[in-house]
Formats: sequence, structure tokens, C-alpha cells
Amino acid sequence: MTDAELLRYSRQILLPDFGIAGQERLRASGVLVVGLGGLGSPVAMYLAAAGVGRLVLADFDAVDLSNLQRQIIHTTAQIGRPKAESARIALAALNPDVELVTVKRSLVEETLPDIVAGVDLVLDCCDNFQTRFAVNAACVAAGVPLVSGAAIRLEGQVTAFSGQPGGPCYQCLYPRDGGIDETCSTNGVLAPVVGIIGSIQATEAIKILTGLGEPLFGRLLLLDAALMQWRSLRLPADPSCPICSVTRP
Ligand SMILES: [Zn+2]
Repeated sequence: MTDAELLRYSRQILLPDFGIAGQERLRASGVLVVGLGGLGSPVAMYLAAAGVGRLVLADFDAVDLSNLQRQIIHTTAQIGRPKAESARIALAALNPDVELVTVKRSLVEETLPDIVAGVDLVLDCCDNFQTRFAVNAACVAAGVPLVSGAAIRLEGQVTAFSGQPGGPCYQCLYPRDGGIDETCSTNGVLAPVVGIIGSIQATEAIKILTGLGEPLFGRLLLLDAALMQWRSLRLPADPSCPICSVTRP
């Protein structure tokens, strides 16, 4: 590790259970960020700043003026540019040591299993169930951990899945067809609420990649920001889950 790296990451290297070994684990890691919107913005910025070695930035959309209230990785000058490219520019300026890969088409059109199999962890920061289910299935198939977040209005939720046999997985939480997409474009969202949830996703990603602390595996945190109250629920694996039950021992 170079002197510049030791200095850049000194405040986390100082952490007793992190150290140089933790930093080297981050540098050796590849992470997929699905969606560079309100959640993906803080997620990608924190992970790049922390020194994750390779970030795959997936978003098929372009930056719109109405995004800028909460999608803080994008700037006014980037309106009209693909979000993945806008994010790449911001992250390269933040930390030139991180390898940045962009995926500008829908993940459903891309070869999602290949992309997921090539990373150590996936962060679901998207806004629709179709992508969430597809990402979850690819993570279970590849045995890759998944950190999932969502926020709308003044509410947020965040959870993590190990990707290992025994579940649970995202599909256990939302049996297919059970959900209707509620989007921020129709329901509104308070900007810092996505920041809170995205920050927790980034924290969990760093913990899982470095072995720090205890991951949020199998627990769901629910935030009510109107009352500023958290609830924590344990997520049981669904024995009839079509995605993770087949991998269960
Ligand atoms: Zn499942």
C-alpha cells in the first residue's frame, strides 16, 4: 500500500477491527451498484471514497432536473447525460484509484448473471420490483451477498442477504406479484431519507466486504422519519420460496 493510500484511508485504517488488512480487502473487492439515483448516489460515493477496488455502475436512465433534489452524485451540468456516466465522472474526481465500469442499458437486457458472478457484493438501489427480483435471483444463483434499500415519502427500509444456502432472500420478503411499484415520481420523497438508507447500505457493504462487525443478514430495518423511529424485524426464509428454497440444504 502506498503512502498516499495510507493517508487517504488513515481514518478507517485506524479502526481496531479494520486496519490495513481491511483496506486491502476493500481494494481487492468488486461491487455492483444497481441504480445511480437517490440511494445509489450516497452508496457509490461512500464506497468510492472508502477505496473499494472496482465499482460497476448500472443505470439505463439519464439525469433529469427533477432528480437533483436527492440524487446528489449528479450535478446540474450533467442533465441529459446517462446517470452511469455522470456518476463515473463524479467518482473519478473523488477517488482516481477506483476502477469504474459503467453499464448503461437495463440490467434485464444485459447479462445480469455474468455481471453478478463477477463481483463480491451487490447493492440494490433501484426503484422497481422487476429489477429487484432479477438482481436477487442472480445473487442467490451466484452466492453473492445483496444489500437492499428502498425509500419513499418519509419512509425507508434496508436489509441484507448473505446469498448463502439457507436464505432468506429478497423474494422471501416479497413473494412475486405481491407488490405494486410505488415510485418517488408519483409519491414524493424527502431527500435526506434516501441519504440515510443509502448510508446504511454503504455501511453494511463495507462491513460484509471486510468482516467488520455483524452484518444485517436476515434482518429488516424500517424507518419512519416522520416520527424518527426505527423498527427491526427478523426475516424468516420462506420454505416455498422459488428462488432460495432450491439452494437450501
Ligand atoms: Zn427466498
